[in-house]
Amino acid sequence: MKKRKILLVNPWIEDFAAYDFWLKPVGLLYVGSFLKSLGIEVELIDLMNRYDPELPLYTKVPKDKFYGTGKFPHIEIKKPDILYFMPRKYKRYGMPEELFRKRLKEVKNDISAVFVTSTLTYWYPGYFDTIRVLKEELSVPVVLGGFFARNQLHIAKKSGAYVFTKTDLSYLPRFLNDLLGWNIPSTDIDWFTDLSPAYELYNNLGYVVLLTTLGCPYRCTYCIAHRNWDNMKFKDPEKILEEIELFSEMLKVKDIVFFDDAILVNKERHFKPILRKILERNLHKSLRFHLPNGIHARLLDQETADLLFEANFKTIKLGYETSGKLQIATGGKVRDEDIIRASEILHNAGFTHKEVSAYIMVNLPEQSVEDVKNAIDVCASIDIDFSVNEFTPIVGTDIWIDLVNKGKLTGLEDPLLLNNTVLPYWWNNMSYEQIHEVKEYAKQKKIELGWSKTEV
Ligand code: SF4
Repeated sequence: MKKRKILLVNPWIEDFAAYDFWLKPVGLLYVGSFLKSLGIEVELIDLMNRYDPELPLYTKVPKDKFYGTGKFPHIEIKKPDILYFMPRKYKRYGMPEELFRKRLKEVKNDISAVFVTSTLTYWYPGYFDTIRVLKEELSVPVVLGGFFARNQLHIAKKSGAYVFTKTDLSYLPRFLNDLLGWNIPSTDIDWFTDLSPAYELYNNLGYVVLLTTLGCPYRCTYCIAHRNWDNMKFKDPEKILEEIELFSEMLKVKDIVFFDDAILVNKERHFKPILRKILERNLHKSLRFHLPNGIHARLLDQETADLLFEANFKTIKLGYETSGKLQIATGGKVRDEDIIRASEILHNAGFTHKEVSAYIMVNLPEQSVEDVKNAIDVCASIDIDFSVNEFTPIVGTDIWIDLVNKGKLTGLEDPLLLNNTVLPYWWNNMSYEQIHEVKEYAKQKKIELGWSKTEV
């Protein structure tokens, strides 16, 4: 009998721009652990791993910028027809196709199925091209899962792959039995709390991304995160510490990144114990830690900030999003005074604008240029850095439903048109010129402050 082995693939990104800001397919790595717990062998091809040892033999790999982040190798490719009006080059980021095909030839006789993951919906051409190559090289079923597959099922089906639409991996044994004629029994294992992402599948990496919680109790109108999980889940702090120690040692990495949506929720019983354990075990002396996913300013207290400083956190992003009346209208997770208070606390702890930065969104519905400029001014006045990011309406969010109800979107747009780079070229919200004006304002502000080397 052929052994039970599944190939996991993190697909290409195809877009006008992409940057490795600590992007790792953590969900796919949990799938890997879960499959292993069922007695199935797994192998990984991560097309987006800039640290793949064979990559420099096939392409020029851009140097790291900071803490393991950096530009992906890329090639220019033909734009999808629907994006004909975009005056920018379209690119495929990640591993060259030649190396991908070589890897597939090495594993082809050994595997029973392939699982491909997905994230942003407007990256689907990259998922489809990955699946096309897989189907050309292999003659086993290809399964597409992840956020795009769940959110855009009707398009995902056009990839030619089988689609797995669940977030709960307990459905996987039955799915595999149906697909491959196996007879795997169901299991009580909780894939998130009992298992760790299968980082052992890599032989070289620049950083490790971990999740200590799942879900978020807030209900921001522009965000889908809270719809992904019914309730929040917390991983045992001791298990998190095991993961940090195991993976940093195994992969010789210095940067540990927490990508939680709401890491400060229940902080007395969750994040503070994690921080204390990092200090008790002296991990802060050899490792750097990062919080790039926008923590909740209102939930920060002085003790947490002091622990973060002591524990060698080098990146702290605060979710600010906008100033003005939209703060309440979009869900009320943060107000100016929360950001100002959080900044004071963080500065008291010893942080500067080099570590602390706020996310600001531009092009939100009903947002004015002044709302964005005011948010930039608030950050500048309290000495925290900021990055201005263009809004994208995610299908299924409250804001998207509202836009459809008001006739500002049809609800049937191709996800490629909802790409935040593309929106200003056709959507009747802020104009391209207004967005450009805001970005110039941000750039000038940073020059005035002497921070011109940081990102806008
Ligand atoms: S934006 Fe942040 S706080 Fe709001 S729902 Fe999403 S994850 Fe939660």
